Amino acid sequence: MQDTLQVDACIPGGNIIVKSIQGNQILLNRDLRDTKGPWIYFKFRAVFPAPGTYTFRFDDGRCLTSRGAAVSLDRGKNWDWLCKSFDLNEESFTFEAERAGEVWFCECIPYMQSELDKFLESEAGKSIERLELCKSRKGRTVELLRLGNGPRKVFLSSRHHCEESMATYSLEGILTEVATHPEEYSDFTFWAVPFVDKDGVEDGDQGKNRMPHDHARDYGPTPIYPEVKAIIELVYREKPELVFDMHCPWARNVPNEYVYFVGQGNKRVQAGIDRFSSILAKYAPSDFPFDPRDNIPFGQGWNTAHNYEQGSPIVFWGATLPWEPSSQSIEIPFANSREVTVLADNARHLGHALARSIRTYLLG
Ligand SMILES: [Zn+2]
Repeated sequence: MQDTLQVDACIPGGNIIVKSIQGNQILLNRDLRDTKGPWIYFKFRAVFPAPGTYTFRFDDGRCLTSRGAAVSLDRGKNWDWLCKSFDLNEESFTFEAERAGEVWFCECIPYMQSELDKFLESEAGKSIERLELCKSRKGRTVELLRLGNGPRKVFLSSRHHCEESMATYSLEGILTEVATHPEEYSDFTFWAVPFVDKDGVEDGDQGKNRMPHDHARDYGPTPIYPEVKAIIELVYREKPELVFDMHCPWARNVPNEYVYFVGQGNKRVQAGIDRFSSILAKYAPSDFPFDPRDNIPFGQGWNTAHNYEQGSPIVFWGATLPWEPSSQSIEIPFANSREVTVLADNARHLGHALARSIRTYLLG
């Protein structure tokens, strides 16, 4: 075992800049790469030389959730909000190392290729067809999942912003619910792209506000990302009646600590969001609650025309398609839904409720 504290990004999806280490005090920044302005994602490992109390602080703006940082004691297999304490004014958290050795820290509970592989090898995952949507810019396979053979088609996506991991746990929950109750979903075919920005997921990028624009602002006549181009082709080919895009909000504070739908100016689409929300309110689990009053109408808060000046998200584009699909976008918080602390399983439970809501919404 080494005798000095080591902090680095040498783990899958790693992202950190170590500014200084003084004793047990570690000063950190996020690595923004091609993101304009500050954003929140970090993921790093610390190799502790000895048991003790270690304090990590960021001096490049806010990034911690209201539960501090997520911690893994087993090299990324399991994650929980295990910080001994944290100070949201100082953007710092303290970890009590009970022994020497390696601990991983992250802004969120990660969901990467390894989690998807594990899911697709599970009992529920085995009935899901794994296809290739396209190759990413860096040559990675971008997964396209297909489940069911019914005439009613649904398109699901997450990670237009690559760090928004909780959305993918909920997407997994949707597919699990469908896969384990095939008789209830026999009318449906689900198409899903779990990692739209596949390179960003695997490389540990911020994703949000990439220059010149990110994947969630690329739905125009000339998309610059191969994934978006391929999704546009798929959606035109399959003509889903619901396009459902899943995101996570910012790290903390209102409105980032509850589930909400992003309102739209299109009245037909907004009526669908309202109806879907009232259904989800009935199905939402107590361990990941949802209240439709938390939805953000178009024109309020961050959800104004200014936010979309760089380009259209998939749901705005979807709303304009000639067969008039329902086109909705949900935000699923990273660490808590109000007073309820959330982990991966909570987000999966929310996904089960979303699947039931989709069924009720489309079948009436
Ligand atoms: Zn997003």
